[in-house]
Amino acid sequence: MGARIWNPRMRIRVLRAMRLHYTDVFVLPLPEGHRFPMEKYRLLREAVRIHLPDATLVIPDGATDEELLSVHAPGYLDRVIRGTLERAEVRRIGFPWSPGLVERSRRSVGATLAATEVGLDEGVSVNLAGGTHHAFRDRGEGFCVFNDVAVAIETWRGRGRLRRAAVLDLDVHQGNGTAAIFREDPETFTASVHGAANFPFRKERSDLDIALPDGTPDGPYLEAVREAAMQVRDRGRPDVVYYLAGADAFAGDRLGRLGVSKAGLAERDRIVVEALDGIPLVVVMGGGYAEDVHDTVEIHLHSIITAATGVGRPPRPRSPSSLGRRGSPPHGPAHGSPGG
Ligand SMILES: [Zn+2]
Repeated sequence: MGARIWNPRMRIRVLRAMRLHYTDVFVLPLPEGHRFPMEKYRLLREAVRIHLPDATLVIPDGATDEELLSVHAPGYLDRVIRGTLERAEVRRIGFPWSPGLVERSRRSVGATLAATEVGLDEGVSVNLAGGTHHAFRDRGEGFCVFNDVAVAIETWRGRGRLRRAAVLDLDVHQGNGTAAIFREDPETFTASVHGAANFPFRKERSDLDIALPDGTPDGPYLEAVREAAMQVRDRGRPDVVYYLAGADAFAGDRLGRLGVSKAGLAERDRIVVEALDGIPLVVVMGGGYAEDVHDTVEIHLHSIITAATGVGRPPRPRSPSSLGRRGSPPHGPAHGSPGG
């Protein structure tokens, strides 16, 4: 599906000791023919090992109940853990329940939790999975059980490591769960660039939503990305940005409906990394459902390489911006209270 966007034999030297977190060893048992491309995570890790030989690959701990409860409702968490979700809840998630689903979902959140700490310390970090943005406080949806980014924001905010956060969600599907979770939170700026006619069909309200028509090509897509990145920087004034680098805006994606080329997606990564230079960046993968899974892997890999090498990213001072900013108290409203 189109020309490669870089030389496959290229080896990237990572200047700092970059740590990437992965979870593909926690395999989700899926029925034959399930449309979720589980193998992309293993293929991506193998590609990272080849192209970023200096990077350190780390298996994260699973998120604890306490961490998950910073966002998720106790009753929902309990039903997930015990396997007592209603049939309709399971159907909405789109994966059959199994103990493996619980473990995998905990680890995926754990990877974003761990990546956040690395990002705050070192300026940039990556979860080779994550971006489960369709998960709400009290329900899962669209292959998402827990909202990894929301849990990471609330957990690290609770520990005093950050105050203002922003989510730049460039997965082609609207980040509805994330938007709903942070709707009343003035310290978290949510931006989503997505397909207007795509899932979820009932959209939530983010701080910035840019909805694109079916078939949108590179030019207008990149304009939207530039606008969203600028607003994340200028309106969000974040201590940390989560970049959901979904590969599903690609023209060859089965679930994407947009018309963006691989070169366009490569340019997207560059725009994001440049616009947010100097702000700690946590890259999570989001979706990707190309006909050929290797296209998805290539697009994700490009996002990782651009984040790792694109710009010399001096990390900001470690103290959160709460110090000295006017207005609200250091950790914002009691937004992460369980079941809120
Ligand atoms: Zn998606």
